[in-house]
Amino acid sequence: MHFASYIQVGESVLKPAIYYQNNVANTLNLLQVMAEFKVKHFIFSSTAATFGEPQYTPIDEQHPQQPINPYGRSKWLIEQALPDFDQAYGMKSVCLRYFNAAGADPDGELGERHEPETHLIPLVLQAASGRRKNISVFGTDYDTPDGTCIRDYIHVQDLCEAHWLVLQYLQQGGVSQNFNLGNGQGFSVKQVIDTAKAITGKNIEVVYANRRAGDPARLVADSSAAQATLGWKPMLADLSTLVQHAWAWERKQVATNQ
Ligand code: UDP
Repeated sequence: MHFASYIQVGESVLKPAIYYQNNVANTLNLLQVMAEFKVKHFIFSSTAATFGEPQYTPIDEQHPQQPINPYGRSKWLIEQALPDFDQAYGMKSVCLRYFNAAGADPDGELGERHEPETHLIPLVLQAASGRRKNISVFGTDYDTPDGTCIRDYIHVQDLCEAHWLVLQYLQQGGVSQNFNLGNGQGFSVKQVIDTAKAITGKNIEVVYANRRAGDPARLVADSSAAQATLGWKPMLADLSTLVQHAWAWERKQVATNQ
């Protein structure tokens, strides 16, 4: 399972060289060594960003892939190389296109800690805990019911489960295949903030800001292929549960930083 990469869209636009080096060249090095040592199974962390601007939603595996930034292109390049590794070396691979990975380990032992943090849910919760003054909402004039962007937030525990199932799928002789992983429900930025207010019981100061470049209005996954082939089903798809787990993790960060 190859998780390591750079992941920030905005940074990838400013520094494409390091994205192609780390996400493409380094992955090709890994694949070369795997081929050399006859490692036959590869699970790749890919992304909804390989699809680019959605032509329809929910996005299934047949949706055209036209990434609109170097991050998405770097992941897509590896997706395109993998069938050649299958053909030449018999290496079976599964690319998992994560939508918005979120939440934290329900036991509170593991969570996300990015420096700098750029993701909506941890930023909202940092505003709730007082580590941040407010949360900016990037755009309120999108063509969505409340005007803010809609995303498909998928709990990290559900993502873990999908990897485990893919591993078994490959070990049982499964063919190379790619899956979109989301919970199939979209939540708006405003819904996320309202849920965070309800879960935390804190007042969260909201600043309405301009749109962020490159943000599509709505990104929602069709994960029916993963459900049909792997028997996978998001178990923690409820936004409140997801925010609750992320909030427990945020409180732990605050406690350990003091
Ligand atoms: N977003 C926002 N304020 C922030 C960070 C994100 O309004 O401070 C919005 C962003 O425009 C997007 C959604 O929240 O519509 C999710 O953004 P995130 O960066 O978490 O994930 P992405 O969708 O870019 O993978």
